[in-house]
Amino acid sequence: MGEDILGMAVRYRALIQNSHVRLRSGRHTATFFDARRILCNPMLLKEFASEIIYLIKNRWMYFHVVVGRPPDCIKFATAVAIVLTNLSMSAVDLISSEERKGDIKQPKVEFSPFYAGQIRGREVILIEDVAMTLATLKEMARAIREAGGNLLGGVVVCNRAGDIEEELGVPFLSLINVSEDENWQSWPQEECPLCAKGVPLEWKVDDEKGFLVPATR
Ligand SMILES: [Zn+2]
Repeated sequence: MGEDILGMAVRYRALIQNSHVRLRSGRHTATFFDARRILCNPMLLKEFASEIIYLIKNRWMYFHVVVGRPPDCIKFATAVAIVLTNLSMSAVDLISSEERKGDIKQPKVEFSPFYAGQIRGREVILIEDVAMTLATLKEMARAIREAGGNLLGGVVVCNRAGDIEEELGVPFLSLINVSEDENWQSWPQEECPLCAKGVPLEWKVDDEKGFLVPATR
């Protein structure tokens, strides 16, 4: 099962492996995942939603609501809800923003009153596209619990962050888990082992466009 999803992600360039990529932060890495390549392709999104559902149904018998953060995770959550039309579920949106604490951006999310009402007293599954750090997931869990939802756990499409379960105190499943994979590390340019070996840069995240372009462009 994992093989197919990985293969598809590679074929549609959502997943780039064994490459040499400059991230928007300026750091270098060998592997890159862009969930938007999945989200802009309905067939691919449906396949990924089905894989997410497979994981959810193996773990939880009963739940009401799938929650995803805007702008991207909400699309995965909605796709999951649409594929699961035989269940009584809804996808829930929420208001998202960031707070600055010194130099560090702190994710801050809050449900609007309508959507808070949708999850109050209900069993909730959280869906995340790419977990880069645990901070956003912790904030999502806080908002769900504060709105009165019972967070059963969640699914992340691509986990680069580490042990989510331990941090949130609920089971958390990954479609693609690379948090322990050294190929998914990133380095400042001066510490990049690929640069040190003279491997030419293949891709870069365009600062203005915000997506991957060939490094020579
Ligand atoms: Zn490099």
